[in-house]
Amino acid sequence: MAKTLIFLGPPGAGKGTQAQRLVEEKGFVQLSTGDILREAVKKGTELGKKAKEYMESGKLVPDDLIIAIIEEKLKELEGKDIILDGFPRTIPQAEALDKMLPAVGRTLDKVILFELSDEEILRRLTGRRVDPKTGKVYHIEFNPPPEGVEVIQRDDDKEEVIRKRLDVYHQQTAPLIEYYKNQNKLFVVDASKSPDEVYKELLSVI
Ligand code: ADP
Ligand code: ADP
Repeated sequence: MAKTLIFLGPPGAGKGTQAQRLVEEKGFVQLSTGDILREAVKKGTELGKKAKEYMESGKLVPDDLIIAIIEEKLKELEGKDIILDGFPRTIPQAEALDKMLPAVGRTLDKVILFELSDEEILRRLTGRRVDPKTGKVYHIEFNPPPEGVEVIQRDDDKEEVIRKRLDVYHQQTAPLIEYYKNQNKLFVVDASKSPDEVYKELLSVI
């Protein structure tokens, strides 16, 4: 059966970075709700118009919108190994996913929790830069972009919004740790190590 993984953890813990590597080296498909939403905002679609203000202020986009996106994508990705990156982020989203998976012939394999302190998260997110052309993620200090690559800072990677997103994570997303522990699906990786070390740990877990 096709693999289904969830990457759980605070913003900036390195979920996207590790997911990209699994895509490149192991043939997974990354399903990032954040990327899908940013694309929708950029294009000015109905979804984008609805999501924009929530994202700019660091709040979560309403569950029904997110669940509808995932439902559609899961149908498209039948038979592929997938990483759900940044979804679910609330208990209702997790419950909806539990109902959806059997309908598309999947079971949840593992939930990987990326653990990182708030202090380190702030350093990672204030220094995060992205290449708008490729979507590749860099860090001004830990992973500087190569010469000639023009990078931008995400609107929500400003300190004030980062703090709001962290609050939201602790209040609305962290309860999923207990939820997946109870399902015996939770595996923890130490996200404070170097990208290579985190990747190694990740491979040993999955
Ligand atoms: P997330 O998807 O969890 O929000 P990202 O993968 O975008 O996190 O990483 C956040 C920032 O931290 C990026 O600037 C990225 O380059 C950097 N980063 C990712 N993993 C590491 C690591 N292991 N050590 C140092 N910096 C990292
Ligand atoms: P990060 O990993 O850095 O927090 P994401 O790219 O995953 O950032 O998400 C950016 C923003 O998109 C979130 O702050 C939120 O507004 C919205 N978003 C992404 N995924 C979800 C989700 N599953 N539920 C609700 N909102 C989401």
